[in-house]
Amino acid sequence: MKVLVPVKRVVDAYVKVRVKSDGSGVETNNIKMSMNPFDEIAVEQAVRLREAGTATEVVAVTIGPQQAQEQLRTALAMGVDRAMHIEADAGVEPLAVAKILSAVCDQESPDLVLLGKQAIDDDSNQTGQMLAALRGWPQGTSISKLEPGDGTVTVTREVDGGLESLELPMPAIATVDLRLNEPRYPKLPNIMKAKKKPIEQSTTADLGVDITPRLKQVKVEEPPARAGGVKVSSVDELIDKLRNEAKVIQ
Ligand code: AMP
Repeated sequence: MKVLVPVKRVVDAYVKVRVKSDGSGVETNNIKMSMNPFDEIAVEQAVRLREAGTATEVVAVTIGPQQAQEQLRTALAMGVDRAMHIEADAGVEPLAVAKILSAVCDQESPDLVLLGKQAIDDDSNQTGQMLAALRGWPQGTSISKLEPGDGTVTVTREVDGGLESLELPMPAIATVDLRLNEPRYPKLPNIMKAKKKPIEQSTTADLGVDITPRLKQVKVEEPPARAGGVKVSSVDELIDKLRNEAKVIQ
């Protein structure tokens, strides 16, 4: 089984995001960037499949600026076999990313594409689904368990009131949720080795994909500052405030 894992460079999950003064987006200059946390989980799962002997090859791919190669180095240090960088500006829209990934699937013929369920910068939660539609491949979204079978993978999804299991004939697409696993911290020797590994480079033009934006970001704003809280002296006062000031109970 060959596994393709798309990984995205995003603002680190622990950084407090600041909106640019002109409202055109969020500040990314001199900000710590990391691999999208859901993609770390996807990489971990793919590497575990290879360690178990189920996967024969794991390939990480990123679409982004030159600096996105840092995230590919992390994936290599975690244990992926190969890394592909498709150079593009940051902010390629999910449909364009899905089209690029579909072109990569034409080249690489993976049996399984494991994506994050969403990128924590734009929270789109679209790329995996769009890729599945473009390929006509079965998909399991937001999975919390993955069991390989004979020419299939069985994935578990947490749904309202229980768990849903889907058996997907491969080639298939799965997007991963937080509870699937806990990603490893790469060991220092592996980080050092990863620095020397080759990264296969290409451009969106090489793949023949048009990434002209279809969406226009109108404005980005900080959320309104939270009003300070008040201390109440009794339950009666609390109920009075909830009923008459906040008007959230009757
Ligand atoms: P999104 O639909 O933007 O929330 O992203 C969902 C998933 O698609 C991410 O977790 C990644 O696995 C993949 N993805 C999105 N953008 C990129 C990108 N620029 N490069 C590689 N993978 C990406």
